[in-house]
Amino acid sequence: MRDPLILAHDIGTSGTKSTLVRPEDGGVVASETTPHRTHFPRLGWAEQQPSDWWDGVCRNTRTLIARHADLRGRIAAMGVSGHMLGCVPVDTAGRALRPSLIHSDCRAAGPCAMVGDRLGPRGLYELTGNILEPRSSLCKVLWVQQHEPDIYRRTARFLQAKDYVVSCMTGNCDATDYSDASHAQWLDIRARSYAADMLAELGIERGKFPTLHRSTDVVGTLTRAAAQALDLPSGVPVVAGGGDGACASAGAGAVNPGTTYCCLGTTAWIAATTGEPLIDGQQRLFNLLALDGEQNGVFGTVQAAGRSVEWAMDVLGESSFEGFDALLAEVPAGSEGLIFLPYLEGERSPIFDSDSRGVFFGLSSMHGRAHLLRATVEGVSFALRSVLEVMRESFAVPALRLIGGGGRSLSWQQLLANVCRIPVQTLSTCSADATSLGAAFAAGVGVGLFDSLAHAAQTVRVTGQQAADPDLAQRYDRGFHIYQALYPQLKPLFAELQQSLQHEDRQ
Ligand code: ADP
Repeated sequence: MRDPLILAHDIGTSGTKSTLVRPEDGGVVASETTPHRTHFPRLGWAEQQPSDWWDGVCRNTRTLIARHADLRGRIAAMGVSGHMLGCVPVDTAGRALRPSLIHSDCRAAGPCAMVGDRLGPRGLYELTGNILEPRSSLCKVLWVQQHEPDIYRRTARFLQAKDYVVSCMTGNCDATDYSDASHAQWLDIRARSYAADMLAELGIERGKFPTLHRSTDVVGTLTRAAAQALDLPSGVPVVAGGGDGACASAGAGAVNPGTTYCCLGTTAWIAATTGEPLIDGQQRLFNLLALDGEQNGVFGTVQAAGRSVEWAMDVLGESSFEGFDALLAEVPAGSEGLIFLPYLEGERSPIFDSDSRGVFFGLSSMHGRAHLLRATVEGVSFALRSVLEVMRESFAVPALRLIGGGGRSLSWQQLLANVCRIPVQTLSTCSADATSLGAAFAAGVGVGLFDSLAHAAQTVRVTGQQAADPDLAQRYDRGFHIYQALYPQLKPLFAELQQSLQHEDRQ
């Protein structure tokens, strides 16, 4: 094939994005996004329709092909990334039996407590490298088993979001990859295989989980029906793909140990590539196997990062990011004593408390719109520093690569460098394309366009660096100290608030 291209699809929380990537330099040729809805049927529940993901993939691909008809015959491979911690029960034909429980769904508190009683959260963390929480796919499967036994019985495979889309393309609904399966909490992370004894202990059939693949393995080709839906030739190879976190790591060029990056998206995380899983004594970080199924990524996730900023902009009536940058500049570093805890959707690392909620601390009558917005951005940045500090206990982090939508803001880049006392590096990859690029790398390796993921990642270059300002960093140290002290004081009150809300919901 002359001038081959890779088509990557990323199933995000708010929409599905399809991106055409040039393998020579990892350049993005064109991309198209279709939004999809999250449904919140009850307090703490969050669901998406798997058919919406597939509709998005079809619409995006048709639009891209209509716009660039000459590219139709140049697509050499496809890869998919998707949000993780899902639960998509499908039947033997790959049909979804119910909407997917997505990552932010916390309904499985009961199963979570049961697993903790049976196995001990510590033992499970040591086995799986992941922290027991109601969001875990393991707990979600148990919820389906308990509350929807008929669906559980009819389930042939429990898939993740990207697995579902791969099955729509190829007809193969028996494929997943190491990254998604490890985060779902059903792998023995060191053995890199299903934790069969643990699953048996919990009464979950091992046979309901798909075959494990490296993300780069070709697991099928585009069927005739799927080709028609996408307006592409049939037979295009499709790889297993990866969870969005693992794909973002590859897209940030973090495929070898020693590289650390921050993804500043709707949800944000800091991740470092390590040869072996890092088992933290206080269970503040978690591990994902990388796209090659061998390396490991250590992650700390801030659940509502960009989401907090979007929320603040919405509430404060600020619709543009130019306005966002201007408002940030109106107020000095530290927001004149206003501190925000960004727990709008509970928090993951390092506290793992789904009951926690957002807080403005230190409000006074002098604080206005700009203070509230700046404090929100600083609060999200403090949350990221709290993750970074845990990593610094175990390894040195000389610099932080930056990807994700928030990385587009120069002011936020500098603020993050100051809060975290670290040089923040920007990449040749457009900040919002890293996840798609990782999925494209996996597909490119799968069909031999790249020799390896490390080879693919050479297309990612550091293009700029912002160093921390020592004076402002010192001011932020004081704010960070108060930030860190707030959660332990509020923890019992968050639990009480949650109980009272559940009580009202039942009435
Ligand atoms: P997702 O994480 O949903 O895949 P992105 O990586 O694009 O999406 O990140 C989206 C977040 O990026 C938004 O929540 C928003 O807060 C932030 N963002 C996007 N563009 C800008 C910008 N120019 N300035 C500041 N923040 C931005």
